[in-house]
Amino acid sequence: MRVYVSVDMEGIAGIVHEDQTNPVDPRCAAEYARGRKLMTEEANAAVEGALAAGAGFVLLNDSHWDMRNLLAEELHHAAVLLSGGPKRLSMLEGIEAGFDAALFIGYHAKAGTARAVLDHTMTDVVRDVRLNGRSMGELGLNAALAGSYGVPVALVSGDDAAAAEARDLLGPEVGTVVVKEAVSRHAARSVAPQVARRRIREGVAEALGRPHRPFVPPSPSAIEVDFTFSYQADYAELAPGSVRHGALTVGYTHPDFRELFRAWRALYNLAKVE
Ligand code: ZN
Repeated sequence: MRVYVSVDMEGIAGIVHEDQTNPVDPRCAAEYARGRKLMTEEANAAVEGALAAGAGFVLLNDSHWDMRNLLAEELHHAAVLLSGGPKRLSMLEGIEAGFDAALFIGYHAKAGTARAVLDHTMTDVVRDVRLNGRSMGELGLNAALAGSYGVPVALVSGDDAAAAEARDLLGPEVGTVVVKEAVSRHAARSVAPQVARRRIREGVAEALGRPHRPFVPPSPSAIEVDFTFSYQADYAELAPGSVRHGALTVGYTHPDFRELFRAWRALYNLAKVE
């Protein structure tokens, strides 16, 4: 069994603020150093769970910010680490190689979710994304990309809001591990890191022992991206084939979801220009 693991940081136990997840601001250095260690340990717990379920290959894709957070020197020996960027498929780079299941570890709720730790969708310039009219965030768009490669999402870990988003989107059969209960965007009741790791280890082993269905978007599919300011939509609509739907909204339609995902990446990266 080949298991794919996308590891983000906002949904790790003990993380409640950007100061803990910011790799670039020198003022955050001490907090961030602790955060990336917590992240690495939860990633390793997922690897252990996958091995317990019989995985023969586990790829860990570092999926947060500049994607150089996981500590290579503390990585589980059985895992392969994919880090750095840019990566064409971003948080799901490498999924195209073919996997039996994907795990989303340390994930967070989509932009605009109340009582969700560090809710956002890729970047601050994005207010909302709709796939075929349904609002979704990183979790949903990444699940759809995995689905386009026939890979089901077996488990999502994060706060209670991320877990609820996963079940709402993927159905009750998706495994979820809640490592903290969100109180607000910057506050949560978290279990101890050791407890979070045990829950992830056991949850992954259990989830991989059950069948899961890929989340496959219809063809053609359409995305609409709402930006924060109109100038961001002005930049995004430079992407060939995109359609301006309003002052803040740019859309894109394609029969192949992989091309649609590529367009989504292009739209928000263009919008980040200034
Ligand atoms: Zn992140």
